[in-house]
Amino acid sequence: MRILLFGMPGVGKGTQAKILSSKLNIPHISTGEILRQAVRDETELGKKAKEIMNEGELVPDSVMIGIIKETFSQPRCKDGFILDGFPRTKIQAEELDELIDELKLSNVVVLSITAPVSEILKRLTDRLACKNCKSIFTRSKIEGLKSCPKCNAENSFYQRKDDTEDVIKNRIEIFNNVTKAVLEYYRDKREVITIDGNDTVENVNKEILDTLSLKYDKIKN
Ligand code: AMP
Repeated sequence: MRILLFGMPGVGKGTQAKILSSKLNIPHISTGEILRQAVRDETELGKKAKEIMNEGELVPDSVMIGIIKETFSQPRCKDGFILDGFPRTKIQAEELDELIDELKLSNVVVLSITAPVSEILKRLTDRLACKNCKSIFTRSKIEGLKSCPKCNAENSFYQRKDDTEDVIKNRIEIFNNVTKAVLEYYRDKREVITIDGNDTVENVNKEILDTLSLKYDKIKN
């Protein structure tokens, strides 16, 4: 199965993608995480992307499409993937469709997770990430902890630079002004499954898996 995961920043795409990846046995491809790793590694890509990301702006389409082509050529993507954070513009969506046709990829589903903006603002300003395993936590849940409850790394919590209020507002604006059009583009071309993300992680995950199982004979790799 090939899932294109869609939704506003902070709606829970990354969290759900991680769980789905392990339950469905397909890789989680997060373009944001690929870029963050490039920034940490100080590669040419990272140097180009750093400021753009810190402002919450979009990295140019040509760069992103290059990343996706390279990722799809890796053997781990052969039998499926969960694409989290791509496509974010109509040009990216069109290029992705060309690639899907060219590589004859089947079982492609667009999964859109929604939540009210007020909830999203609350979640994003309240979240911390682990530098080591990249897990995301609510501040109150890890208060007082010295090490990450997922990977045990010590003193590894940090706030993403793009999780400050001004940048979050910019990211939401870009989503509304640019990325939402991608969903409209897909509504004409592919089945779009919409899931209410304003619930617990477990309930949202169950809803996703139940809906996919109802619609597709085989969701497991
Ligand atoms: P995310 O982790 O998906 O929220 O992405 C973090 C940041 O990476 C975004 O705010 C953008 O600056 C950049 N980014 C990730 N994916 C894309 C994409 N498909 N197109 C352009 N920029 C992207």
